[in-house]
Amino acid sequence: MGDAAPPARGRCRWICRRPKGEGMEQIFCGRSGSPVLLVSACLCGVACRYDGRSAAVPALAALEAAGLALAMCPEVDGGLSVPRAPCELLNGRALTKDGRDCSRAYLAGARMARDLARRHGIRLAVLKERSPSCGVSRVYDGSFCGRLIPGMGLAAALLAAEGMTVVNEENFAEAVKAVLPKETASWKPTG
Ligand code: SF4
Repeated sequence: MGDAAPPARGRCRWICRRPKGEGMEQIFCGRSGSPVLLVSACLCGVACRYDGRSAAVPALAALEAAGLALAMCPEVDGGLSVPRAPCELLNGRALTKDGRDCSRAYLAGARMARDLARRHGIRLAVLKERSPSCGVSRVYDGSFCGRLIPGMGLAAALLAAEGMTVVNEENFAEAVKAVLPKETASWKPTG
């Protein structure tokens, strides 16, 4: 899945993929705006996780529906399918449990996320914690035993290296409020 052209204002390139009714609370009554942040697509309700599920956060889905957030999934954008074998990071590489190296797709998707942010002048990303692509402060340790270690996913690290602010689905409220236009003062992180 590529991103050949920026989405039209207020339209989401993922909209046809989002499970109907999930994460679609409309707090902006259909108002559209220019995107001011990137968000992990799974947090917007897109079923793009390795297991075919989403991790919807309604307040973030509402921003995406209003055109203020761009949903992106580095793993799908990098060419991986849904569902797919999960990977964990080991020595900077994204490996499946049986040792298959998926780093190339992960890195391609990370670069696409960075390029998307550059094209739109976006300086903030809200990303799914613990993901080998999107993890902001914790990732699994590569043993597939469920152990978390401090670290960033590959896309999150590239966005941070770009000088962007990267936050996760637990601590995004203040950072998001700081970049939203004034007329969206009704937005609530619990929305
Ligand atoms: S790569 Fe990021 S956006 Fe895609 S499913 Fe994983 S956490 Fe969500």
